[in-house]
Amino acid sequence: MSRVYNFSAGPAVLPEEVLQELADEMMDYNGTGMSVMEMSHRSKAYQEIIDTAEQDIRDLMNIPDNYKVLFLQGGASQQFAMIPMNLMKNGVADYIVTGQWAKKAYQEACKYGKANKIASSEDKTFSYIPDCSDLPISEDADYVYICENNTIYGTKYKKLPNTKGKILVSDVSSCFLSEPVDVTKYGIIYGGVQKNIGPAGVVIVIIREDLITEDVLPGTPTMLQYKTHADNGSMYNTPPAYGIYVCGKVFKWLKKMGGLEAMKKHNEEKAKILYDFLDESKLFKGTVVKEDRSLMNVPFVTGNEELDAKFVKEAKAAGFENLKGHRTVGGMRASIYNAMPKEGVQKLVEFMKKFEAENI
Ligand SMILES: *Cc1c(COP(=O)(O)O)cnc(C)c1O
Repeated sequence: MSRVYNFSAGPAVLPEEVLQELADEMMDYNGTGMSVMEMSHRSKAYQEIIDTAEQDIRDLMNIPDNYKVLFLQGGASQQFAMIPMNLMKNGVADYIVTGQWAKKAYQEACKYGKANKIASSEDKTFSYIPDCSDLPISEDADYVYICENNTIYGTKYKKLPNTKGKILVSDVSSCFLSEPVDVTKYGIIYGGVQKNIGPAGVVIVIIREDLITEDVLPGTPTMLQYKTHADNGSMYNTPPAYGIYVCGKVFKWLKKMGGLEAMKKHNEEKAKILYDFLDESKLFKGTVVKEDRSLMNVPFVTGNEELDAKFVKEAKAAGFENLKGHRTVGGMRASIYNAMPKEGVQKLVEFMKKFEAENI
């Protein structure tokens, strides 16, 4: 077996221990004589899997009892529509646009009501987080929307926006479970799991109970109402059963690793290794303002497209995969999610030093 260091932005690296457990349980899950993939979602064994997964994420994030945890399908992008359909009671919402994902969410919301772009960092290719301490929040806004960690650009909110009492909705796809959060600050906190938790397709929505109502936009499909899923324990229809089981394994792994405080420390240490090098390098440099740097996604460039391409190619040959930057940004990007070991980042930096010495 030979595994690479996988710096993919998503789907992304998962803990080897978890992958091994999945393999061990593939043919016979816990004496059932079948794979979880083959199991009825109405079975006792599966009910236990989903219940345990829910309890474990509740423990990890310290989720209060007045929040529901929903395991849904359609990825994070489905939420771009589901959120306005369920929350736009006044038909108004404010969006802070800090990257492609926030922009897509904003554009989708425009279909369902009056979405206001109240701040943006598009003027400087989304390389910073705007000052959100005193934004022109709409009087009748049903919610304020952010993308908390910008996967493509590598920025993260270090402080949540002042929503002036309005409900905060946050896409945390690429920083999910990477550090502790105060769930009570949010109306909805959600993310696709393929960045930091599990297989693509599953999206986890943590939603305050009072936001789950029948008062949704006319024509909202049954499957796109939070109430449908909340009333049925995420099993109105067949859930993404195997994916949820994998998420549950990762929750157990996170608990074993010491929970989110320990993860934060681990992630800060890893990111520091890479950022410290970028700050001293004569060849490579980071692309975003220092204060807003993400712990999860680290974009960097040499300033020369040919050299960037050469780096990506040589890195791949040396066992460092998926370092090419997003097609809209160019350069490189190292995604260093929870499951990326510190050793992976250390080795990458060693490789970058060697490349620098050979190419400067
Ligand atoms: C990847 C990503 C998405 C899109 O996720 P899908 O599951 O492909 O819909 C949305 N938001 C953020 C922040 C992401 O990183």
